Amino acid sequence: MEDWTCQDCKAINEAASPNCWNCKAPYRLPSVPPTAEEIRRSQFVNGDAPTTFRELFLKRAGDMVLINCEEPSKQKSACLIGVHGEYFSILDARGKQQTLRHYPYSAILSCAEHDGALSIEVHRQVFTKGAFAVGMSIPL
Ligand SMILES: [Zn+2]
Repeated sequence: MEDWTCQDCKAINEAASPNCWNCKAPYRLPSVPPTAEEIRRSQFVNGDAPTTFRELFLKRAGDMVLINCEEPSKQKSACLIGVHGEYFSILDARGKQQTLRHYPYSAILSCAEHDGALSIEVHRQVFTKGAFAVGMSIPL
């Protein structure tokens, strides 16, 4: 073992000493500079960015969001009042009735953030009006 240079204060230490004589920092290996590939990849990762829909929703908890909670293709305003382990809850309070709706995160098709507002698109079954009424026979 050779003498080592303290990574904190750059003092030279004897091989046998576990801590720096000058600043008391413990011995550690010099940090290895990142490779070109590691630098390239780090450009695409924001350390504070949410990694799940739950984390994304926690940032918006209590806010009004847009969600297609009634008609598949129509967004309406509702309050994101609950962000739970496996589902989230929205309160649709327009009109006289208050409807609390719960959706699993797996129901989310996409989210959009525009002008500071979160818009959530959830999976809903689409039935085309008329298709069943006209020319539809059920074989029995
Ligand atoms: Zn030191």
